[in-house]
Amino acid sequence: MLKSFSYVRAKSLDEAVEQLRAAGGRVHAGGTDLVGCLRDGVFEVERVVSIGAIDALKGIREQSGGGVRIGALTRIAEVAKSPVIAERFAALARAASEVGTPQLRNQGTLGGNICQKTRCAYYRGPFPCRRKGGGSCFAIEGNTEAHAIFGGRRCYMVHPSDTASALTALNASVAVEGPRGARTIPIDRFFVLPEVDPTRETVLEQGEVVTDVILPAPGAGLRSSYRKVRMRRSWDFALAGVALAIRKDAGGAVSEARVVFSGVAPVPWRSTATEGVITGQRLTEDVVRRAADAAVAEADPMPDNAYKVDLLRGIVAQELAVMA
Ligand SMILES: Cc1cc2nc3c(=O)[nH]c(=O)nc-3n(C[C@H](O)[C@H](O)[C@H](O)COP(=O)(O)OP(=O)(O)OC[C@H]3O[C@@H](n4cnc5c(N)ncnc54)[C@H](O)[C@@H]3O)c2cc1C
Repeated sequence: MLKSFSYVRAKSLDEAVEQLRAAGGRVHAGGTDLVGCLRDGVFEVERVVSIGAIDALKGIREQSGGGVRIGALTRIAEVAKSPVIAERFAALARAASEVGTPQLRNQGTLGGNICQKTRCAYYRGPFPCRRKGGGSCFAIEGNTEAHAIFGGRRCYMVHPSDTASALTALNASVAVEGPRGARTIPIDRFFVLPEVDPTRETVLEQGEVVTDVILPAPGAGLRSSYRKVRMRRSWDFALAGVALAIRKDAGGAVSEARVVFSGVAPVPWRSTATEGVITGQRLTEDVVRRAADAAVAEADPMPDNAYKVDLLRGIVAQELAVMA
């Protein structure tokens, strides 16, 4: 049965932070993930603090120079449909459009999307797994079809967010407000690997609220994309995905690249190996093939998910070929 908790609808960010200070407080944004977790007993809360009435956290604001600030409460659908995002940050527009269903995109927020909990069936089910503070990862002895091929070790969950990989490729930062003031965290340092701490997904401290996601100006010639493969076309989480952000020099060689995978690791997984192969090169067939091989060279599949290695190699090759 759902354990009772108090519910506060904060009128300001200061009030939200104050209400979230004590252990057991949780942010409620769109509620599409939080409510399911509470209903299924994944974790318990003492206090749910809705930030839905804080208008300052809503909307997409262009910055001078070409960057963009997206309020954490901005609906995923708004991100997906924004002409500014589509034109400057195609990977994010695409990733947002691939999240769940229209209903979820209309209700879910960008902040909630990057802070959501994993869909690992053992974590979501009645198993005292490591992520819940238990002693083992039940996937190791169980079904590993949907689990990680990179970065697992103590917990083999995969990060569920599509937008997080795109934001990582686009070198975003996460602005946060908390009991100790404001801070801005480069997205590369926002997510936590299980080998560091299997009980947390992000570096957020108790009481901290994500206020904005900041996208730096793309600058001339940056092209980005997001490709996701899932079990069902109607809606599903990524089995594997790749976000690319690539710039080329005047001769057509790649001068800058960020390559980030979704659906295959506990955090958005940056592939410096792939980046290393393509940087300084034109995207010829040979370079693309070598880059796709490099993308999976360090993969460490589990008994049921070796298919992800071939899947990932294939989509990396296809997406790089589109950028050629
Ligand atoms: C059926 C289904 C299919 C889905 N498919 C996909 C998919 O294909 N791809 C994908 O990426 N996602 C998918 N999702 C996840 C969905 O996108 C998330 O539930 C949604 O993005 C969460 O946003 P929310 O605003 O509803 O967050 P909430 O449910 O309100 O919060 C989620 C978590 O984030 C925390 N949180 C929320 N906002 C903040 C903030 N501003 N600061 C700090 N913490 C915060 C909450 O405390 C909570 O722990 C799916 C979900 C469902 C139920």
